[in-house]
Amino acid sequence: MYDGIVIHYAEIFLKGPSVKRKFEQILICRLQEKLKWKERLDLKISLKEHTILIKGPVDLTLVEYLAKTFGVRYALPVVFCKSSINSICEASSRLSVLAQNHNPLSFRVKPKKEKLLSLSSKTIEYEIASFFQHWPLDLNNPTCIIYAVIKKQYAYIGFHRVNGPGGLPYGSSGRVLVLISRGIDSTVAAWLMAMRGCELSLLHFGEEPVDKIKELLEQYSGKPIKVFLIPHKILLQKFQDREAEKHLCIFCKTAMYIAGEIIANNIKAQALVTGENLGQVASQTLDNMVSMTSMVDAVILRPLIALNKEEIIDLAKEIGSYLLYNNPSCPFVPKHPYTAMKKEKLHHYIHSSVFKQCISEWQASWNFQKTHNKKA
Ligand code: ATP
Ligand code: MG
Repeated sequence: MYDGIVIHYAEIFLKGPSVKRKFEQILICRLQEKLKWKERLDLKISLKEHTILIKGPVDLTLVEYLAKTFGVRYALPVVFCKSSINSICEASSRLSVLAQNHNPLSFRVKPKKEKLLSLSSKTIEYEIASFFQHWPLDLNNPTCIIYAVIKKQYAYIGFHRVNGPGGLPYGSSGRVLVLISRGIDSTVAAWLMAMRGCELSLLHFGEEPVDKIKELLEQYSGKPIKVFLIPHKILLQKFQDREAEKHLCIFCKTAMYIAGEIIANNIKAQALVTGENLGQVASQTLDNMVSMTSMVDAVILRPLIALNKEEIIDLAKEIGSYLLYNNPSCPFVPKHPYTAMKKEKLHHYIHSSVFKQCISEWQASWNFQKTHNKKA
């Protein structure tokens, strides 16, 4: 077991002092919550000179778990020590035991010490390296770096850096409502918005829950996420019965925006988020998206708009959401969906009594099942 974890944050560094303090506290709250989910409240979190220190026995699984938190640049499992050479040597010896199963191609020691300390960086480097003589040394291009931070207030050594997603801490950039399907794109869109600090609520149109997606996003966020479920088939059936035909996908998506706007207003979300991607399917032509967007006042954010599908898939794999993909093809999609809807024409349809009736009957079937707060 390591003595603890040192966490370095990402972009918070760019903020002015008061925003930095606020964002640091948000990140600490998120990490604390994640420790609670793992029943590890025995670990103590503190902030020292913009570095987050977590003290207590930890293994690599916990390091990887905490690294996967929005706002974290990397997490480093460490052995703590004092700023004396004896203590550094004792810590190096313990670290070398923890490193027994690691066989890097090459390594070097990178010391960082407080100027006022009488120890020289060269001595620190030499002493630590002497405990890793079985690893090939390479000062120029090592595959592994042993980080040694030696300060009067605290000191540590570690080498197993685990990178985090970076970005901003969850909940530092306002609140959005994500239209979440069971496909690949919308989870990636949600993840990207949360990575920029947005607090998420999820809205899914469908009969099945989206628990796995919710859990994955919660893991990165460090806060429970609310899900709203709205039955969908009933609406599509109504459109089909009223012969929406080639316009069905446009009506369906516009109805999603309208419902999204109602819920966003209710929960005070400032924008809707979708996984739409220009030209991906018929409803995502520029004509259609511009027309559908004009039917609501809500701001609609589309973080994937200009990515290629391969790029979205690569992101999904990195995030860990690719395997959650479970989007059976929609049986209501018409043979020749319409791709060039004009605003005026859509306006006319949406304000027709037929469309309004479909929406109001559909609304009557809503029964929000907010998912329970996460316990563990
Ligand atoms: P895929 O990877 O299959 O493209 P997708 O989630 O992007 O998945 P699309 O049919 O491309 O599905 O839909 C575009 C966007 O519309 C989605 O990204 C999502 O924001 C929203 N959306 C589609 N279906 C639903 C649904 N059932 N519930 C909520 N939002 C949905
Ligand atoms: Mg899509």
